[in-house]
Amino acid sequence: MIIDAHTHIMSPEIASAKLSYLERDGWFDECYRDPKARFATVESLIASMDAAGIARSVVTGFAFADQSLCAASNDYLIDAVGRFPDRLIGLAAVQPDAGQAAVYELERCLAAGLAGVGELLPDGQKFDPTSKDSLAPLVTTLQKYDVPMMIHTSEPVGHLYPGKGRTWPPRIVDLAINFPDLKIIAAHWGGGLPFYELMPEVKLALSNVYYDTAATTFLYDFKVFRTAITASNVRKILFASDHPLLKQDRLVRRISLEAGLTGEELQLILGGNAARLFNLTGPKAVI
Ligand SMILES: [Zn+2]
Repeated sequence: MIIDAHTHIMSPEIASAKLSYLERDGWFDECYRDPKARFATVESLIASMDAAGIARSVVTGFAFADQSLCAASNDYLIDAVGRFPDRLIGLAAVQPDAGQAAVYELERCLAAGLAGVGELLPDGQKFDPTSKDSLAPLVTTLQKYDVPMMIHTSEPVGHLYPGKGRTWPPRIVDLAINFPDLKIIAAHWGGGLPFYELMPEVKLALSNVYYDTAATTFLYDFKVFRTAITASNVRKILFASDHPLLKQDRLVRRISLEAGLTGEELQLILGGNAARLFNLTGPKAVI
């Protein structure tokens, strides 16, 4: 079973009112100002999954700075997951600094079938992922339901790109140290964080941190797969496209052919690890 651990869809209402959302959220403006920036709908995502042989996708909307805009994004996700419950795993957008309002929104989304929080955008939402006090209510709820937090991360080196931001590896290490039992998905290879797992104390601190491969083609040579397996652990790497940024079918094909992985490693990265993380490995599950 192939699982894409990081995709985005946008409600047609938000997509058609794009200009007004660009004015309302600075990070949305940075990411989507380019007229060529694409939005996916749930229908186009499902069609892409079918073409790529992808059984399930972890799907997110957009984590706006304003909690009420997050709720609008979540409404579309809830509807999408309700329509395709066997194909989609939805992550709620919340503003962690909204405190109890964020907890209520998360509870609403989990009750409606979503399965965690993401893709949080500390730079765009202007919250501090290293602040234990402000994140504690949200994390308590995530842990109560045993669901993960997916968070954007980026590299402190290399080229700039829209939405890169400065959620760099040290901030994710602090987040993991503050909440050692929280399952964290550090998007985009954790901004290079797997390398630091060669330090024993860092490896220990990151034992519940997973890395997704979202946008990998734009960021790394495919040697990143072998390098991350060597430095971290093959069981913590999740295949992800960042669809619609990357084409799912092409990325599955390239990873299968170019990443130099064994059959067992491919099985874990392409779906086995995500199935375990999202508790899809019950008796009825087909891996
Ligand atoms: Zn991201």
